[in-house]
Amino acid sequence: MTSHNRNTPVFSCEFFPPKTDVGMEKLMAVQRHLQKNIQPAFFSVTFGAGGSTRDRTLETVNHLLANGATDVAPHISCVGSSKSEIKALLDTYISKGIRRLVTLRGDIPQDSQAAGDFAHASELIDFIREDSGDHFHIEVAAYPEYHPESATPESDFENFTQKVKAGANSAITQYFYNIDAYLRFVEKCEQVSLGIPVVPGIMPITNFASLTRFSDTCGAEIPRWIRKQLEAFQDDTASLQRFGCDVVSELCTRLLEQGAPGMHFYSLNQAEATLAIWQRLKSV
Ligand code: FAD
Repeated sequence: MTSHNRNTPVFSCEFFPPKTDVGMEKLMAVQRHLQKNIQPAFFSVTFGAGGSTRDRTLETVNHLLANGATDVAPHISCVGSSKSEIKALLDTYISKGIRRLVTLRGDIPQDSQAAGDFAHASELIDFIREDSGDHFHIEVAAYPEYHPESATPESDFENFTQKVKAGANSAITQYFYNIDAYLRFVEKCEQVSLGIPVVPGIMPITNFASLTRFSDTCGAEIPRWIRKQLEAFQDDTASLQRFGCDVVSELCTRLLEQGAPGMHFYSLNQAEATLAIWQRLKSV
């Protein structure tokens, strides 16, 4: 398994499970394209809250393994799940040779009481470590601009440290466009000697409406100078994407210069935007 080393950044790409066979076929082509160019250390596959994509996540993991992916890391979220359901999933992943998990609480569905055996991601990590020791490399979520439900910045950071104490090996951040928020978060981790890599999550900018909608719910700020410019492009998608590529490539370059241990690309199941950023990084 690829581990983090200060001098060699580790890159990874995230997918969500497609809903149709055609979507799956397209995703496998995207994976091959990304694999050939970026050679990511792993591909991760998201998991719908409450297990809503449980079967499709597993199916996507199977397809990626059969498609020659270097390493695959399923996301696993615990909201609304029982211990026996999680145990069954862990057993399945162990039987498939999976060694890395992105371990989350998940978003609580609005129409559900989210009854289940776990309240927070740290409890899921405790359970995984109890169940399968050190079999899995555990990735967790980090929020440089704070999780939207957090009571205070201090308690949010304290809750993050709980996940590390429970046994997380590394973290991937929510996406951000304010580099200072990330650098400050990393500094706080260093101050308390957390000792795990915090990999920036990178969201390419390709669509104004979906980016703003998602950013409002997940608590990632789009700085005014970016939002205003994106808004001004209106239907001029080519200019918007060119500007988006400039902004995100510059962010990535600065992050690497500042010692970021890698990048996790939220590919949205598309190769082009991630590869455009990648090409720019390579040419720096
Ligand atoms: P937690 O770490 O449990 O934190 C959730 C909230 O609870 C925070 O506000 C935290 O401060 C608070 N908290 C934590 N512990 C305590 C405690 N002991 N007492 C009081 N408060 C506490 N969602 C999906 O549904 N599927 C996915 O595949 C998925 N993938 C993701 C991948 C990444 C890299 C990231 C950054 C997010 C992803 N998400 C995914 C979104 C994530 O599930 C949501 O942000 C969710 O709301 C929180 O999950 P968490 O694991 O960060 O939760």
